[in-house]
Amino acid sequence: MATDLDRLEPNAQRVQDDLTELSQIHDPASSGWTRTVFSEPYRASREWVRARMADAGLTVHADHAGNLIGVLPGRSAAAPALMTGSHTDTVASGGRFDGMVGVLGSLEVVRQLVENDVRPDHDLLVVDFLGEESNDFGLSCLGSRALAGALTQEHLDRRDHHGVRLGDRYASFGLDPSDVLRAAGRFGPRGLHRYVELHIEQGPVLEERGAGIGVVTAIAGIRRLLATFTGRPDHAGTMPMGDRRDALVAAADAVLAVRQEGCGAPVHGVATTSRLDAEPGSPNVVPGLVRMQAEMRSVDVDWLSAAQVRLTEEIARKAAEHGVDVDLTWSLDNDCLPASPDVHEVVSSVADSLGIAWEAVPSGATHDAVHIARLCPMGMIFVPSRGGRSHCPDEWTDLDDIVTGIRVHGATLLALDRAR
Ligand SMILES: [Zn+2]
Repeated sequence: MATDLDRLEPNAQRVQDDLTELSQIHDPASSGWTRTVFSEPYRASREWVRARMADAGLTVHADHAGNLIGVLPGRSAAAPALMTGSHTDTVASGGRFDGMVGVLGSLEVVRQLVENDVRPDHDLLVVDFLGEESNDFGLSCLGSRALAGALTQEHLDRRDHHGVRLGDRYASFGLDPSDVLRAAGRFGPRGLHRYVELHIEQGPVLEERGAGIGVVTAIAGIRRLLATFTGRPDHAGTMPMGDRRDALVAAADAVLAVRQEGCGAPVHGVATTSRLDAEPGSPNVVPGLVRMQAEMRSVDVDWLSAAQVRLTEEIARKAAEHGVDVDLTWSLDNDCLPASPDVHEVVSSVADSLGIAWEAVPSGATHDAVHIARLCPMGMIFVPSRGGRSHCPDEWTDLDDIVTGIRVHGATLLALDRAR
C-alpha cells in the first residue's frame, strides 16, 4: 500500500480549476452560488459533471433516480462495488464547497489511479447524488434516499408552496416518477462493499483544533417540530393586554424554549427555530394563528428523546399561560447513525500513516451517507471549513486542506478495496 500512497499525489491545480469551473454554473438571479435541485443551472452543471467523469476515465450513466454514476471497472468480476461520491446541488444562496469537494475530490482520485495504472479489485463507483439539500418539499437526499429504497409514493405526492407535486418536478426534469421508485439497489449486480464520502465539515471544530481532517463518528439524528398556536385575533388598539390570547407571544416563548433546550445539550446537540408565520399579519390585529417550524439534532439519542418530551411540556405550559391552544407534531427526519467502526479505523490509520493530524468528530449535518448506510458499511472524511461557515456564500475551505482530504480519501479507498 505504501507504494501506491506515495504515487497518488493529487494535482492541486486541476482540483482548483474544477472547483472554479463548477462554481461558475449558478443561478445569476440569486445571491451566492445557488444551484438548487431541478433548476436549469443544476441541469447544466450535471452535464459538466458527466463530461468531467468521462474525461477522468469513468463509464458514466444516470440511474432511474437521477443519480450520475461513474464506474471504474475493478479486476474482480465477482466483487461487490466500492462506492464514493457526494452532491453538486446547493441550498439557495449557498457556497462553492458543500458537496462539490466530495464529487470533484473523488474524480481526482480516479485520475490518479488511472494515470498510475492502479486498478482496484472492486468496481469503484463515483456518484453525484441527485438533490442532497433539503428542498421545497421538505425532503433532503433525494437520490441516495431512492437508491436505498427509502423514497416513497407519499414523498412523490408532496407539494411545494406553489402546489406542485414532487413527482411532477421529477417529470419536468426528465425523470419518470414511477422509475424513481424502482431505483432501489440498482447500482450493479453484486451489491456494495463499502461507502466513504469526503465532505467539508461545515462547523468550526477542525480549524479550532488544528486538525487536517475529521474522521466522522456518527451523523446526528434530527427531530422536526411543526407547532400551530391558535389564539384569538382582536383589535390591537382596543383589547386590553390582560385579555388577549396572542398566538405570537406564545410562539415567542416557544422559540426561547427551543433555544434553551439546545443550550443544555450534553454532547453535540443543537436546537433551532427556523420559521414563524403569523396570521393575519396586520399591524392593527393581535395575531390569532402562528405556525412554527423547529428542529433538534444530536448524536445522543437519549438526549433527543428526553428533550422532545421536555420541550413538548414546556411549550404547552407557556401557551396555556397565554390562553393559547397549541398543536405539536413531531417527525423523525433521520435517526442518529454511527459510522461503521471498520471504515472509521481505516480512515484514521490512513491519516496516521500519512502523518496527517485527525480529530474524531460527529456530523451535525445530514449527508447522503445516512441513506447509503442501509446498503453497506459507511464512513466519512471531513476537511476544515473556515470559521465553521457553511450554507452561505462565504463558505470556504483552503485548497491545501482539500488536497489533504483527497490524499486521505484516495488512500482510504485503496485500503478499503483491500479490506475483506
Ligand atoms: Zn453537503
